[in-house]
Amino acid sequence: MSHNCKNLLIRCMDFRLRDELMCWIEESKLFEGGFDVISLAGASKSLADGSGEIKDFFLQQVSVSTDLHHASRVVIFHHSDCGAYAKENTFASKEDELVKQLNDMKKSRDILKEKYPNVEVLLAWGDLQDELGDKINFEIVEG
Ligand SMILES: [Zn+2]
Repeated sequence: MSHNCKNLLIRCMDFRLRDELMCWIEESKLFEGGFDVISLAGASKSLADGSGEIKDFFLQQVSVSTDLHHASRVVIFHHSDCGAYAKENTFASKEDELVKQLNDMKKSRDILKEKYPNVEVLLAWGDLQDELGDKINFEIVEG
């Protein structure tokens, strides 16, 4: 019996995202057909700037979704006020943070497209409206 799902969500592990992210997933219909999840601090950050070993591990996780579950779309989801980025960067504004993270998201997309040319890759952004993530504005920034 085969079990397939259409999407792979790459998201940050941040607990503040959970409730609003699940609402967005249900409301947006983007994830119809089911989705796998890779949940890591900084979402695709370690794919964009990690060592060879970390990249290999990351891509191995993606392969489980694309090869075993036949996922045909990857959604790379990053968010504002991300601790994984705050550790290494000081951002003058939310816009600066988005520029830096978007750069990593695009880099990650290119790495994924090279390895999985037939997989669609979307880049999504969550803008936390408060410190606790009680309200988050979601948008597809590219794809
Ligand atoms: Zn984060």
